[in-house]
Amino acid sequence: MYIDGQWCETDEKLDVVNPADGQVVYRVSMGGKEQVDSAIAAAQRAFGTWSQTTAMARADLLLTIAGLLMEKKKLFAQTITNEMGKPLRDALGEVQMSIDYFRWFAEEARRVDGQVVPAGTADKRIFVIKQPIGVVGAILPWNFPLGMLARKVAPALAVGCTMVVKPASQTPQTALEFCRVLEEAGLSAGVFNLVVAPAQVVADAFAASPEVRKITFTGSTEIGKKLMADAAGTVKRVSMELGGHAPYIVMDDADIDLAAEGILNAKFRCSGQMCTAANRVYVQRGIADAYVEKVRALTMDLKVGDGRDEATVVGPLVSKSALQKVAAHVEDARQKGAAVLCGGVPLVDGEYANGNFYAPTVLAGVTPDMSVYTEETFGPVVPIIFFETEEELAQVMNHAQFGLASYFYTNDLSRMWRIAEKLEYGMVGVNDPQPFGVQCPFGGVKESGFGREGGHQGIDDYVVTKMISMRFKK
Ligand code: NAP
Repeated sequence: MYIDGQWCETDEKLDVVNPADGQVVYRVSMGGKEQVDSAIAAAQRAFGTWSQTTAMARADLLLTIAGLLMEKKKLFAQTITNEMGKPLRDALGEVQMSIDYFRWFAEEARRVDGQVVPAGTADKRIFVIKQPIGVVGAILPWNFPLGMLARKVAPALAVGCTMVVKPASQTPQTALEFCRVLEEAGLSAGVFNLVVAPAQVVADAFAASPEVRKITFTGSTEIGKKLMADAAGTVKRVSMELGGHAPYIVMDDADIDLAAEGILNAKFRCSGQMCTAANRVYVQRGIADAYVEKVRALTMDLKVGDGRDEATVVGPLVSKSALQKVAAHVEDARQKGAAVLCGGVPLVDGEYANGNFYAPTVLAGVTPDMSVYTEETFGPVVPIIFFETEEELAQVMNHAQFGLASYFYTNDLSRMWRIAEKLEYGMVGVNDPQPFGVQCPFGGVKESGFGREGGHQGIDDYVVTKMISMRFKK
């Protein structure tokens, strides 16, 4: 762990296992309440000075971090792949995205400005300023161990907040490597603290502490709800990046090749373990046969394997329980009448024997009574649903619970606006399977959460607005 600028070891260890072969790749110290409390205290002490540094100094520091990440790009990519299994090429993309977040928020740091507001009387002047909210507690997921960290740390540090961060138990090593970068960059002690400890212990300590003024969480909706309820005790601000259930819609006027290639991107990256992954693929009847055949052929060509092998496109699932969930969803769909066009089985022989591999799968004829239709599968499964008309689509494309990402393909401009405005999601990709980037506000509606990460909006969650009214003699 990294607390108050010091490396900290404990006797209790946590094994980190590579999901491609079941081997222990790292062993890290596991802390408890004592470490979390001292990390919060260190962050609180550091806040006084860090919040008083200039925006320019903080921007310079973020640029230094970006430079160091660039130098260590391969090391970070390998660590991500070792810990959670995603193919090296995707891990390199994640490191680049993280670098870009530090660069983006280095620039945004200089633009946290305020307002002068016309007053109600002639002898008053009213100023509105923005200040850092204080100590931020962050809880991270395992699917983007560096990307999600960067998306929270860069804006928090940019505005002058200090932090206590808990990585997911599957991926602590990436976060520990990140601490070495901060040390090398010369970040003052206590500004950033990393604790590896049982999740409930961290959550309880954050909730109980009046010093922790904000909790930022990326993970499941179930845990997000608990954190929100617990944060109410001290009325902390929370931002929540939670689960999703993205529709991926292909209208009959769409470019079929683009829409078929797009689904590989929106579904199979990270083996489908993305909150933005396409979960319901709606295909209009007129092009259904041609589209389904293209998707099936492309899916069958995907090379599944150990993420460390450069040829691998689809890696393992993060754990045995994740693998079981995917298998159960496919079995449920099969039993209820879906056609399994390819895949549909765990891969267990030869090079796959000790890993958590599932064959990339295409299901056709999926219906609302199937688990794949309503729950997040978080695996390499494309569930295809057929529909006839735009009106029929409008009845089903929104999810009762989730509203994170959505995608649709059309070449009709009027249809584009009609559908885009009716989609109840925080993000809409039109003919675009990856509508994300550091410039874009990322986040959801409904039970997918609230708050935005990235874009100009990414700063807002880390600042408080203060009004100063000044009266003077005329
Ligand atoms: P998870 O089980 O909610 O875990 C996420 C984090 O929460 C981990 O650090 C975990 O710690 C911690 N946690 C577990 N129990 C907790 C508790 N009682 N109190 C506080 N923290 C607790 O989710 P996951 O399985 O890792 O990630 C998958 C989910 O995240 C999916 O639903 C996905 O859609 C969502 N996600 C959303 C976004 C987004 O931006 N909207 C991005 C990525 C993922 P331990 O590892 O120590 O258990």
